Amino acid sequence: MAGEPQADCLFCKIVAGEVPATVVRETEHVVAFRDINPQAPTHVLVIPKAHYPDAASLAAAAPGLAAELLAEAGQVAADEKAEESGYRIVFNTGAGAGQTVFHAHAHLLAGRGLSWPPG
Ligand code: 5GP
Repeated sequence: MAGEPQADCLFCKIVAGEVPATVVRETEHVVAFRDINPQAPTHVLVIPKAHYPDAASLAAAAPGLAAELLAEAGQVAADEKAEESGYRIVFNTGAGAGQTVFHAHAHLLAGRGLSWPPG
């Protein structure tokens, strides 16, 4: 069922505390933790605790939660003092776009120059 934890999902295991992570922010519905393979000085993953496979399915099934996720990403950016340099929030969606973990997550990237177009 949409939103239910999935036994084979890495990020559901992080939410459950079964896989350790460096958590920087946690609310009732959202958790943010540092990426294990950072692509910028600040690289934080912001995820809903509920399981949705990608950002689009999250937004379709639970638009309020999707909005909350974005607001929390903005709060993490403020906490990380990323507003001055600017930051990027990325949702890789689909394997062809680089998604490797099929639990919706925002990448918050900051702390270095971020070129455009992205690779
Ligand atoms: P995606 O490629 O799906 O957009 O992003 C998945 C992200 O999860 C990658 O940036 C990857 O480095 C990160 N990641 C994979 N395994 C772990 C883990 O066990 N812990 C943490 N903190 N991040 C992980």
